[in-house]
Amino acid sequence: MLFPDFGDPAPELRCHFSLRIKIGVELLQHLLPSQSQLRLETGSLDTVRKHFSLVVTSVQTNSHCPICQNASHRIHSRYQRTLEDLPCSNYAVTLVLQARKFFCINPACQRRIFTERLPQVTEPWARRTCRFAERLIAIGLALLRCRRQPS
Ligand SMILES: [Zn+2]
Repeated sequence: MLFPDFGDPAPELRCHFSLRIKIGVELLQHLLPSQSQLRLETGSLDTVRKHFSLVVTSVQTNSHCPICQNASHRIHSRYQRTLEDLPCSNYAVTLVLQARKFFCINPACQRRIFTERLPQVTEPWARRTCRFAERLIAIGLALLRCRRQPS
C-alpha cells in the first residue's frame, strides 16, 4: 500500500500528496545555505525540542587543495559534520553535512589529504554556517553600539 496510514488514496489525491512532498523538498532545498554546493538528502523535525535537522551532501565533483590550490577529484574518505544554521520560525536548524576528504594530486605539495572546502556554506573547522556566524556577529555589534550610545 502506498500510504498505509491513510489507506490507499484515490489517484487524484496521490498526485496531491506527491505535489506537496515535492514542494516541501524544493522549499527546503531552496533554504539551504548554498543550492549549488549542497543537496538535501533527508530531514527530521522534533516538535517537542523545536529542532529541525537536515542531512545534506556536497554536490561538488572536486575540491581545491588549500596549500597548492590544485583541484582534486580523488576522494580519501567521508565524514560527518554538524553545523548550526539560521533558525527558522523559532525552530533551531542543524545541518548534518556528509563531507569528504580528498587526496592532493600534486606530488610537489606538502599536503597529502585535505578536507573539502565549501566556502558558500562554512569555514573548514567551523561549527556554524557562514550566514549564521555573520548574523551572530551583526547582533553582537548592534548590541555593542546600543550600549555605547549615551542615553
Ligand atoms: Zn596540494
